[in-house]
Amino acid sequence: MSKHKDIIIIGGGAAGFFAAINIAEQYSDLSAAILERGKTGLQKVKISGGGRCNVTHAEFIPSELVINYPRGEKELLGPFHSFMTGDTITWFEERGVELKIEEDGRMFPVSNSSQTIIDCFLDEAKTHGVDVLYNHSVKSIDVLDNGFSIETSQENFQCGQLIIATGSNTKIWKLLEDLGHTIVEPVPSLFTFDIKDERIRNIPGVVAKDVEVKVLGTDLISTGPLLITHVGMSAPAILKLSAFGAIELSKLNYHFDIEVNFIRQDLDSCLASLKSLKLDLAKKLVVNYTQFDLPKRLWKQLVLDANIDETNRWADITKNQIDALSKQLTKAVFKVTGKSTFKEEFVTAGGVDLREINFKTFESKLIPDLYFAGEVINVDAVTGGFNFQNAWTSAYIVSQSIHKS
Ligand SMILES: Cc1cc2nc3c(=O)[nH]c(=O)nc-3n(C[C@H](O)[C@H](O)[C@H](O)COP(=O)(O)OP(=O)(O)OC[C@H]3O[C@@H](n4cnc5c(N)ncnc54)[C@H](O)[C@@H]3O)c2cc1C
Repeated sequence: MSKHKDIIIIGGGAAGFFAAINIAEQYSDLSAAILERGKTGLQKVKISGGGRCNVTHAEFIPSELVINYPRGEKELLGPFHSFMTGDTITWFEERGVELKIEEDGRMFPVSNSSQTIIDCFLDEAKTHGVDVLYNHSVKSIDVLDNGFSIETSQENFQCGQLIIATGSNTKIWKLLEDLGHTIVEPVPSLFTFDIKDERIRNIPGVVAKDVEVKVLGTDLISTGPLLITHVGMSAPAILKLSAFGAIELSKLNYHFDIEVNFIRQDLDSCLASLKSLKLDLAKKLVVNYTQFDLPKRLWKQLVLDANIDETNRWADITKNQIDALSKQLTKAVFKVTGKSTFKEEFVTAGGVDLREINFKTFESKLIPDLYFAGEVINVDAVTGGFNFQNAWTSAYIVSQSIHKS
């Protein structure tokens, strides 16, 4: 015997809860259940943003917001006109969760705890009678004449409308493929670069505030802060490349060269600056007089790598040394030999092919009454709260698209 529900949501993560709550709020007479395979839900929300949950980003213009989505830029423009960051802030505020904006635009609960978001969702789900069924791992989905039949690790269900919110789950992607959907091959996005290089070996923790990084042999280029880590490089300048280059860098098996411009000046203007410093600071030791607003320890490494030693004064350095230093500052090449997990946020590029989804409703173009929300579709974003915004927007639009019979 199968249990009947009007609406079933597979996946009790960010998108699944957001869809279920918004549906239950509107349609108290419809029965809705979340089927979640874990013994609790919202596990990614829990660990998100280093435990603080970077809920969204303070970017309020849809055409500006979409440029943060390497996959989904074109498709999300319409949806963001329906439900955007401002709506997210209001949604949480109306349910007692205040968000704050950090300097870089990321938005977090004022409590600085992801538990605040989880508590809000669990309370809302309870208030509106959403049935949350844990330890229900979905094994198969069949399309019936008037709905769906779903087999789980426990009981079986039938429903009229089905929402898939299972994130980057390969088993569900396989089931969707069996139903006729195309799945774009998943690859990791948002990772840091492994680099073994003498110039950065002893300076983990150093941040260059504004650099430009190019992946040599490709068109990939990004700007922003760069962090030297124990194993290589991280921070937005690198993470943006990992997102926009997710597919290309996977094809390179994460082995490639990058060129870093630490001062965002071209080689010639850097050369001119160094030549005038040679005159102005003639008697000073080069290593001691950090220039271009670079961190002291990074400046020292780049100077030493230009064959300028710790006893050299500006007056002593040769044309070759000036050439070498300007190259280190504007065109420093580093060999990337792998990738590491960025612990604050990571996502998977790939998922349900965007051409098979109606972005006015997030309904499948192939199977009526089947909807998608969140990371299950081929949408992902750079770091900063944009991935959750995709979950909120898609889930909200699904909740508005559900019909009563
Ligand atoms: C460490 C980390 C930190 C992050 N931090 C941030 C951040 O601060 N800001 C941000 O914007 N993004 C962040 N992200 C990305 C963000 O968490 C995801 O984009 C978002 O959770 C996607 O929501 P979702 O509901 O689509 O998928 P998920 O949150 O992954 O939820 C999917 C749910 O489906 C369930 N499920 C899967 N298969 C089945 C099945 N067969 N049967 C039943 N249930 C199933 C899973 O158990 C899970 O609960 C982070 C990601 C990670 C890994």
